[in-house]
Amino acid sequence: MSHEVLVHVDKVSKSFTGAAGDELRVLDDVSLQLRAGEIVALLGRSGSGKSTLLRTIAGLISPTRGTVRYRGQELVGANPGTAMVFQTFALMPWLTVQDNVELGLAARGVPPAQRRERALNAIDLIGLDGFESAYPKELSGGMRQRVGFARALVLEPDLLLMDEPFSALDVLTAENLRTELMSLWQREDFPTKAICVVTHNIEEAVLLADRVVVLGANPGHIRAEVPVDLARPRDRKSAAFAGLVD
Ligand code: ADP
Ligand code: MG
Repeated sequence: MSHEVLVHVDKVSKSFTGAAGDELRVLDDVSLQLRAGEIVALLGRSGSGKSTLLRTIAGLISPTRGTVRYRGQELVGANPGTAMVFQTFALMPWLTVQDNVELGLAARGVPPAQRRERALNAIDLIGLDGFESAYPKELSGGMRQRVGFARALVLEPDLLLMDEPFSALDVLTAENLRTELMSLWQREDFPTKAICVVTHNIEEAVLLADRVVVLGANPGHIRAEVPVDLARPRDRKSAAFAGLVD
């Protein structure tokens, strides 16, 4: 497995302008590399800037200072090597499963026949076979998130970005989908090279990731980067030592 750097986040800070015209600092001097072959978890409390960092990597937000590079190229607009899975699925309710999955391909100018074939492959891969003509409202939360996965995977992004993808699901559904993602990740034909997953759940981070990046808040900064061998805390004290909890 290669370890080429896909994304370089270099000294990124981000501020938003508050309602009163004041400056709200959300990310402070964040540097991070995402390499082919790895799953990285961004772990932190609510408000620590996890979503902002993920959106910055996706090129949906531009940094106030610092740079994000994809394969060495500084981003201008959306990151072409990424696709996103959202906490609340963000499906188009008026479109069928098939059309939801095809939408991003259509936007990229892929011809209809290829769109259809690629969408069917992604739908099959994620276990939605037979639900092509269903509408999101006819599906359970877990099935809807499968559509979210298919819609991202069909783009064959180098880097799959997931913002708390399991936290809107009940415990068992979340566990099933996590397990399935991990087994897909092992497959030769899994269409992405790396995954970056945001979570506020330490167990989930340790379960999924090869490396856990811990964000602290006010403003968001990197508190620790922990390989998962070290991040499997036997007790609270060693977790605190690794910077995973207070
Ligand atoms: P997390 O995902 O870790 O919960 P976020 O990145 O969503 O954190 O938010 C971090 C902080 O930035 C929060 O205080 C949030 O209110 C603020 N924030 C996020 N996006 C915006 C925005 N577009 N405008 C103003 N403030 C924002
Ligand atoms: Mg968030």
